[in-house]
Amino acid sequence: MADPQGSLDPRAAADRLMDGLRADLERLARIPSIAFPGFPAEPVREAHDLLVGLLRDVGVEHIETIELPDTAPVIFGEIPPPTPDAPTVLLYSHYDVQPPGDESLWESPPFEPTPVREGGEEGLRARGIADDKSNVIAHLGMLRAFGGRPPVGVKIVFEGQEEYGSPFDEYPPTDPERFACDAMVIADLGNVRPGTPTLTTGLRGAAEVIVEARTLKEPRHSGEFGGAAPDALLVLLKALATLHDVHGDVAVEGLRRDEWTGAGFTEDEFRDLAGVEAGLPLLGSGTLGERLWSGPAITVIGIDAPSVDHAASAVVPYARAKLNLRFHPRQDPREARAALADHLSGLKPFGVPLTVTPGDTGPGYEAATDGPAYRAARAALATAWGTEASYIATGGSIPLVNGLAQAAPQAEVLLFGAQDNQCNLHAPNERVLLSELRATVVAMCAFVTEYAADFTREGRA
Ligand SMILES: [Zn+2]
Repeated sequence: MADPQGSLDPRAAADRLMDGLRADLERLARIPSIAFPGFPAEPVREAHDLLVGLLRDVGVEHIETIELPDTAPVIFGEIPPPTPDAPTVLLYSHYDVQPPGDESLWESPPFEPTPVREGGEEGLRARGIADDKSNVIAHLGMLRAFGGRPPVGVKIVFEGQEEYGSPFDEYPPTDPERFACDAMVIADLGNVRPGTPTLTTGLRGAAEVIVEARTLKEPRHSGEFGGAAPDALLVLLKALATLHDVHGDVAVEGLRRDEWTGAGFTEDEFRDLAGVEAGLPLLGSGTLGERLWSGPAITVIGIDAPSVDHAASAVVPYARAKLNLRFHPRQDPREARAALADHLSGLKPFGVPLTVTPGDTGPGYEAATDGPAYRAARAALATAWGTEASYIATGGSIPLVNGLAQAAPQAEVLLFGAQDNQCNLHAPNERVLLSELRATVVAMCAFVTEYAADFTREGRA
């Protein structure tokens, strides 16, 4: 079973292991490991302990738990390289999950893994069973396939508080030795659609900006004062209306937008995923990839103003909005946020100045795709799914990727895994397809085999 020569047949290994992996995935998915305030910490610890036990069983001798303030324990494991010239691969995933939300919307209890069928494929439904427990189990499957002795050195990072956000994001650069590696498999996502192997090469950056208008000391009768008294809500809406042009493209100067050259969604697929009401147009122009991944997006995510149900006939004295900006993976976060803030500060709708407060910002990420790990991963994904891998990006961010990339700046970063875009991540009825899990195990086995062989060939000792 252990095969340091790397001549393991990954498909046969995955077939042999699937029953056990499925059983372990179900065990893990039964634990409500929600690392959000207001939820008990014990299940998070229980999931941690289960995984430490599984890693120990597969032969990972060096395992420790990184305990940091204000976050759940991070499992760190290490398998030394089998030979001095073998590369080291860091395997990342997280064992915490989103809260289930409104349980009445679930077709089965969120923490009772339940078989589902979808398009002839067998799957399992439970909260967190795709995001990201499927990928924890896929990593474990790779280690099992090689009897705990894969042809590469391995560093395991299983995080316990990814969904809520964690100070662990900042930790890797403070301990670079620990995270030193040649390549990382960040398995917290998956395929653009089931059956289409996908490498995610870019993550957009994110920033928030709050904009406020104050015009009157207090509300004033709209019959007596409306028409001349400056209306704070109108001022705010006029400002927000300048953020996009007539086509719905972002109209703020200084936000980078490049052509998207990778794969992407078809328009029908996107409409379906987004749940767009029939007959409505999409926003913006150009390819979907450009609008979603290599260009900016500005979303008004909240407005404070009188609610319709409590509306009085009065001129509104104060209003504010929170804007969420997503920007090109390579744009500097402060520069992008400043572009939006400067646009708003320069407006003065009806002559009224706005108060603009920049909020949190996080960088995007764009992978270099021309190294040996990418070559190996493309070959591995083609082996696993039987068709060439596509490149996509994602609008969501994974802040830890930047922390890890800072700690190991030379390492190639690979983003793939067992999820897919129809998984219902963070939504009711989350599910994973077993065919995708199996293929991910095959891909991980084929990747480490091919990467180790390539690394040795090229003599990168
Ligand atoms: Zn996740």
